[in-house]
Amino acid sequence: MINVTKTFLPPIEEYQQQLQRIWKNEWLTNRGALVQELEANLKQYLNVSTIICMNNGTIPLQIALKVLGNNGEIITTPFSYVASTATIAWEHCTPVFVDIHPEYLTIDETKIEAAITPKTTAILATHVFGNPCHVEAIEAIAKKHQLKVIYDAAHCFGVTYKGNSLFNYGDISTCSFHATKIFHTGEGGALFCNDKNYELQSFYSHNFGHKSATEFYGMGINGKLSELQAAMGLSVLPYMHKILKGRKRVVAYYNKNLDFSKLEKIKLRADTSWNYSYYPIIFKTEAALLKVQKALNESQIFPRRYFYPSLNTLNYSGKQKMPISESIAARIVCLPLFKNLNETDLKLIVKLINKNL
Ligand SMILES: *Cc1c(COP(=O)(O)O)cnc(C)c1O
Repeated sequence: MINVTKTFLPPIEEYQQQLQRIWKNEWLTNRGALVQELEANLKQYLNVSTIICMNNGTIPLQIALKVLGNNGEIITTPFSYVASTATIAWEHCTPVFVDIHPEYLTIDETKIEAAITPKTTAILATHVFGNPCHVEAIEAIAKKHQLKVIYDAAHCFGVTYKGNSLFNYGDISTCSFHATKIFHTGEGGALFCNDKNYELQSFYSHNFGHKSATEFYGMGINGKLSELQAAMGLSVLPYMHKILKGRKRVVAYYNKNLDFSKLEKIKLRADTSWNYSYYPIIFKTEAALLKVQKALNESQIFPRRYFYPSLNTLNYSGKQKMPISESIAARIVCLPLFKNLNETDLKLIVKLINKNL
């Protein structure tokens, strides 16, 4: 069986070496030595000045909305994983959708201003598939209307835009280290921001609001990464170059061999150094997608319909129509993409797709 992704597992001895440190320290969570080491290593690897590791990629979004959302209307993208929209509703804010760009698939920055009302407090946009939003235009709009910017950068591990980590953009940016993402800690995630005040609020928010054992800055939740999760991260991180190399090879194979007279791929924004995190293809019709999906499934190959349905159609999303997002969501699929996907399997996948188009 070939799935859309396959989690990279480091050599078990290397994971066990990290676990031995935990046994020696007899310390399993509450920002122990391994979490702190992972944060230091990630800062260096990603070239960011701050990072707060958390227990998944959803909690940092919730915390960002708690810190910046102020129960207001949040301008957001309908084309993302469901967590982007669910967290807005979960944090008692209101999602206000703005349709996406048909080629970049990120929020269409030219349509944002029309959606702003006196209740708007923030923009929450996703760098979907690791493709950067138009960060300059969004920053200018936010400045003009005094809005905060949150980026769901769950797909953006290692992506740079104009030579700068994509995590450095926006007031707060978040990442996921879920097992399906290119760098993982099993479950895990992180929050990035360059503002000292937001950093402090985010930090205490992920640890019950603690200032010390007996003092509290304010309200908080438990968003801490455990030492066991950090052990996985410390074991995976040294393999990032191999992971990226393997993925780059797969992407190059698809680029070279798929029949693009009948398919489209997404357009990467200029000045982006990408991370090969997903391989989405867009069919002419949903029927064409379903036909290819069926053929692949019959050969035990399971691409995923990332991202379907368009998030404006969820039952808690209101009834805003998003024609471009709805159309793309119905026609897009992500192909298997992972480090060790071999040439025999790639050949079969491409053959089944091209033959059934
Ligand atoms: C994976 C993902 C999340 C959620 O991350 P978890 O670590 O699974 O909580 C949020 N947003 C997007 C776009 C994602 O792909």
